[in-house]
Amino acid sequence: MTLSVIENGQKRYEELAELDKKHFFHPSTSFKLQKEQGPGLVFTEGKGVYLKDVRGKEYIDSLSSLWNVNIGHGRAELGEAAAEQIKKLAFSSTFAGNSHESVIQLAAKVAELAPGDLNYTFFTSGGSESNDTAFKTARYYWKMKGRPSKKKIISRTKSYHGVSVGASAATGLAPFRDFPSLAPDFHYVDSSIEAIKEMIEREGAETIAAIISEPVQGSGGVNLPPQNFFKELRDICDQNEILLIVDEVINGFYRTGTNFGIDNFGIVPDIMCIAKGISSGYAPIGGMIITDRLKEELTDLTDGVFMHGYTYSGHPMCSAVALKNLELIEQEKLNENVNLMGAELLKGFQYLQQTHGGIGNIRQIGLLGAFEFFKDEESKTRYDEPFAPKVVAEALNNGMIARAIVYEGQDTLAFAPPFCITKEEVEKMISIVDQSISAAKNKA
Ligand code: PMP
Repeated sequence: MTLSVIENGQKRYEELAELDKKHFFHPSTSFKLQKEQGPGLVFTEGKGVYLKDVRGKEYIDSLSSLWNVNIGHGRAELGEAAAEQIKKLAFSSTFAGNSHESVIQLAAKVAELAPGDLNYTFFTSGGSESNDTAFKTARYYWKMKGRPSKKKIISRTKSYHGVSVGASAATGLAPFRDFPSLAPDFHYVDSSIEAIKEMIEREGAETIAAIISEPVQGSGGVNLPPQNFFKELRDICDQNEILLIVDEVINGFYRTGTNFGIDNFGIVPDIMCIAKGISSGYAPIGGMIITDRLKEELTDLTDGVFMHGYTYSGHPMCSAVALKNLELIEQEKLNENVNLMGAELLKGFQYLQQTHGGIGNIRQIGLLGAFEFFKDEESKTRYDEPFAPKVVAEALNNGMIARAIVYEGQDTLAFAPPFCITKEEVEKMISIVDQSISAAKNKA
């Protein structure tokens, strides 16, 4: 880059930063840091696994932004699909039984990909809305069956289910529940079958509507479930007449190397929530899929109207973009690349572990992976101050956007790169982490 390009970029950053500081209330951002430092990176472009900021610097997007840009950045075909739909039909209601072609085709595509008899999809604008819809549907189902006391929702510690009033009440990470008066009747349980059994015993199955779980927990640290967890959970839910909701917002649409995360664990939930990967973040869309059995029961149980719907449930442009996204991923076999590159990612983690001391708890499934930092790996002693954020800061200097997870005493670096990543790009990513760990250690 020439000096004038850098200077112009810096000038533009400063102009935008002033406005940002004054007017843009950011999600999940420190008020103080924004006020003092202004926005972090101001992005202008994306291509493949790379993002570019207003100063012209390129970064590898190691988390597909928010675990969502699965197809990779800069796919013009998705813009074309959006434009085509908007020109033809920008919006029409899906309330009161109305429909349109893109949403019908998308619902059919989702049914084709989803396991078992999960064939009936309600659309939303994202993950939180999908989970709220699932909680309301589960409670409504039991109410219609004449069992209104079955209303509690159980979720796992370290789970993340979103930030709407209901979804944050379900989130097992305490910092997200630091708001008074979230939704009632949510309970949290450790990720062991014993603990779940005890909770059902204590609360009484007659008070519990559903249990919600991510197949592989994402924001809580990329945590794989204990062995046999889902098979046993499915049995417990059946024995106690509790609905099983699986939150596929991060896992869904090939992230873990299978269509859905739950496909790795051989069971079919009653309700599945989706978002992110369905459109690779090119349009805000999510959904809740229910089984044919649940659909038939709901149909028989009520003659009234299901009084729940978002203006943008089944938005035409979002539906068209999601359909195109799924079509391109299949056509280009990017779903197959997930497992190939997942294996490369694991090799990279192992290389880092051999090169630097104090790396452990490596996990990887498809293109979802993480490892943790320890002052002493053998005794699992943590650093006094989390180390992962220091690596993230160095990685930013070195041209990579990385994600640290430090909730509840963890010290984790998480990875979920776009499915289009190549072997060379995985190696580049690992090499940046390698340099960044060394730099962070040198400053310690
Ligand atoms: N569930 C899970 C597992 C998620 O990871 C997220 C988002 N990170 C959500 C729900 C919430 O989705 P959204 O931010 O689209 O509301």
